[in-house]
Amino acid sequence: MSELLTSSTVDLYRALISQSASRIATRFAEVGRPSSGASRAELQTLVAAVDLAGPGVGASHAIREIDELFLEHAVWFHHPGYAAHLNCPVVLPAVAAESILAAVNPSVDTYDQSTVGTLMERRLIETAAGWVGFESGDGVFTSGGSQSNLHALFLAREAAIATSDLTRAEALPRLVLFATASSHFSVGKSAFLLGLAEDAVIEVGDDGEGRMLPEALDAAIAAASADGRVPMAVVATAGTTDRGVIDPLASIAEVTVQRGLWLHVDAAYGCGLLVSRRYRHLLAGIDRASSVTVDFHKSFFQPVSSSALLVREPRDLAAGAWHADYLNPLENEEPNQVDKSLQTTRRFDALKLWSTLRAIGPHGVGDMFDAVIDLAAEASDLVEEDPELELVGRTQLSTVLFRVRPEGVGTEEQDRLVAAVRRVLFESGRALVAKTVVDGRPCLKLTLLNPQTTLDDVRIILGTVKDAATTLAGIDDELGVVGAKA
Ligand SMILES: *Cc1c(COP(=O)(O)O)cnc(C)c1O
Repeated sequence: MSELLTSSTVDLYRALISQSASRIATRFAEVGRPSSGASRAELQTLVAAVDLAGPGVGASHAIREIDELFLEHAVWFHHPGYAAHLNCPVVLPAVAAESILAAVNPSVDTYDQSTVGTLMERRLIETAAGWVGFESGDGVFTSGGSQSNLHALFLAREAAIATSDLTRAEALPRLVLFATASSHFSVGKSAFLLGLAEDAVIEVGDDGEGRMLPEALDAAIAAASADGRVPMAVVATAGTTDRGVIDPLASIAEVTVQRGLWLHVDAAYGCGLLVSRRYRHLLAGIDRASSVTVDFHKSFFQPVSSSALLVREPRDLAAGAWHADYLNPLENEEPNQVDKSLQTTRRFDALKLWSTLRAIGPHGVGDMFDAVIDLAAEASDLVEEDPELELVGRTQLSTVLFRVRPEGVGTEEQDRLVAAVRRVLFESGRALVAKTVVDGRPCLKLTLLNPQTTLDDVRIILGTVKDAATTLAGIDDELGVVGAKA
């Protein structure tokens, strides 16, 4: 029997989906830590042992195996012990919509493949553009913030070339963009992919905590122009990945408007503020941007992928339009979203956000983001008050950067403990934290994105961190192996 989803296999569909739902439900009810802690060697052996060349074991058996392999060893972002990266627990209406999507399998590249889906996506784009303050903005859903940033900088590049009196070949090596050292790595990568010069990303000074200084920006633009370079865009970050701080958007917009420059706001992390009742003011000035990246799969609690690029001027998107006779010929009047996207076949990710907004409303999402912002502030206080811990700056969103300092441990050893502690925790599977480097020194990072995580949960993570550090510092005294483990 064919195991495709067709009208003759609806019973199999029901059975498989309920089998999957029941496996997932059991895991969610019973999972006791964010990951199994199995070693890579163990996992490699389990993965290699699966026969992918044979005739198959049947769908039900395959799902059972996935439960035993994937779900057994998955990383659980909903678990309060997960506090590493910008992965969020997901809202249920979005999960349900995702399973609908998978079954229907629409693609929103052309209208004739998606019809009402295209119109729903466009309505959501208008809604999100409205949250930003773009009166008649446009945009498109993308695979993620990195793609949105690449797309935005591509549009900025095209606009800069069009308005300069240089040819494309003359302009390319001269184009420059401005961002701080804390901007996301996809900014530098985009400049590379867009064929800009190696020194095209000009680093703008910050306030010591990662926020761009508008005066430094203005001076950097003037210096680059005097140098014969062609300023193309300014990338401001609304929620830096590590510190969770927000560039002063209104003052930056003053500079970009004055200089006639494209302002791109990377709000991949901070976009949840758009629907916040209490913290929306942190994004003041975002409406003056030319383009904005929003990652619904970060602060809107959506399953990956769900992200969008929004633009203030709909015509700006036309720079990426390309035509194919079979798909979107020039004379076609249907609203083909492929004209606006870098992708062709594209997921109808908008459906998940749609079901979320209908289920709990934008403020329902915003309240959840507010809760993790408040939690991070309280967690920062906890760290600050603890003599065994050292807080590394304050966030405006939901990260907590810190180091451990067991008694009698100096700076150098403190730095070495960062990687060692993270690894011990990772291998235990009990609590997952991240590590990063701030101002040249390593530190641990909690990214809090679970509105149900309590301060007591954070206390438990911090306790685990301190225990690991104390043990490692002891080992270090006797054997000197912390550095080796790191
Ligand atoms: C996560 C992040 C990105 C990249 O988004 P992806 O969805 O992971 O591609 C871009 N910018 C910032 C500030 C981010 O935090």
